[in-house]
This record gives sequence, C-alpha cells and structure tokens, in this order.
Amino acid sequence: MAALAERLEAALAGSRLEQVEPLSFSSLKTATPGHGQLVGRTLAGITCRGKYDVLCFEGGFRLLLHLGQSGRVRLERRTVTGRPRGGVVRLGFDGRPQLTVTEAAKERRAGWWVLGPGDDGPLATLGPEATSPQAAALVRSTAASRQLHPWLRDQQSLAGIGRGYADDICHRAHLSPFAIVGRLDPAERERLVGAIAGVLEEALVRERQRQGGLEGDLGDRFAVHRRAGSPCPGCHGVLERVSFASTELVYCPHCQCDDRVLADRRLSRLLR
Ligand SMILES: [Zn+2]
Repeated sequence: MAALAERLEAALAGSRLEQVEPLSFSSLKTATPGHGQLVGRTLAGITCRGKYDVLCFEGGFRLLLHLGQSGRVRLERRTVTGRPRGGVVRLGFDGRPQLTVTEAAKERRAGWWVLGPGDDGPLATLGPEATSPQAAALVRSTAASRQLHPWLRDQQSLAGIGRGYADDICHRAHLSPFAIVGRLDPAERERLVGAIAGVLEEALVRERQRQGGLEGDLGDRFAVHRRAGSPCPGCHGVLERVSFASTELVYCPHCQCDDRVLADRRLSRLLR
C-alpha cells in the first residue's frame, strides 16, 4: 500500500476532486459525512497508514482506501462510465487520470471510508507503523503473551503487516511462528526488529519498480509465503505449512523451529 500511495500521490496530488461514484452498496463504510462533501476539494496528498491508503483533502477531510485481499486500483486517462465487475468506487479528478477501485467479485473485503476533520475512523485503533522507531521499541519491550505470527498480523499491535509478510518476517528472524512474543530474549528481539524492517523495506523497493496494474494481491513475491513444499531459501530443506480453515502459514522447521515440524491440525484430522 505504501508504493501505491506514492504512485497515486504522483498522479493525483494537487488536483480537485470532481466526482465520487460509489460502485457498490456495501463497500462505503461510513454514513456521515456524505461522500458529496469531498467534491470540489483539492487533494492535498496521499499517505499510507497500516493497510490503508489515506487521501487527504483540504479542510481536514480524508478518504481511506483498503484493498482487502484482491482489490485493484486503476488509473485511466479517458473518462470511463458504467459499472465494472466488482466495482468499489470511482474518483474523478480535474485534468488528471480517473481512479477506479475494483476487487474480485466474491471477496467483498475492499472498502472506503469518508472521514471528517478530527475523525480517525478505523485508523484510531492501529498500532505503530511497522517500519517506525516506535514499532522497534515495542518489539524490544513488549511482554505480550501471544504467539508471534498472529501478533505480527494484528493491526492493533503493529500496523501494516499482512499474512505473507508475517511468514517471511518469522522466517528471516529464524523464529517459530508460534513463539511467545513476551518470552523472546534480547537477541531474538533484535533479529525480529531487523527482519521486520528488512522484509518491508525490500518489498517497498520491489513494488516501486513494478510496472502496470496496481493490485493489492502481491502474488508470489514472497520468500516463503505460499511456498510450502519448496526448498527453504536459507537451508534448502523443505518448507512446511500449518493449515487453517481458509489459509495457511509457511515456515522452515530447520531454520525456525530447531528441526521440529509443527502440528498441522487439518492434516492430522484428515489422517485420523
Ligand atoms: Zn531453512
């Protein structure tokens, strides 16, 4: 989302919003202020906070954009009308490309929010930005009695880490995804701080270099995420998975878990 914010900023900042067109009933998450309140306002800039891109308009109004798992953002030179499949919202800017957000039709997880001055909406509950000094300080000091992987993904502990990056961060830090965060020793915490910064910074560099569509789904751009059964990039052992109802996490038993294979409940249920 950070690279997307940079691209949108370059394309749209400084222009006046001429049109806001909701493309589905459910994706606009706020009732007041109405989206019409944004029309005619100049887009001052676009930033990224957690998994949200934040369009900041004059007068303290903001529009938040969350792409969910499969959202896409298109910038189009010509004016497009009609409802695209999986449409979320379309924004028209004075003399600039038109911005259209869509997502895979079944998902319905992408959304947008219109916030008035002083209203932080869903941003209010976010933890420190994962790449910030505050996040590093939190990792060094937290006593949270939670497992590492879900703690990393919880936007209220650290903001901006999804499932894929959580897999890669645990792998790079050589830590079990189920290690208890508050029990990590100082050396492990330093590895974690370095892994969070390294994985997210490299991802940003990669995303900046990318051409073409601005999709939210990052596909296969991960070191271990979605690569169960493939060789570990560190030790060349086989990457394993732990399956959940609709997803899985991937890890290296050798690099992260002292050669232990973690219980995969779904697999054990099938074998029973
Ligand atoms: Zn390994």
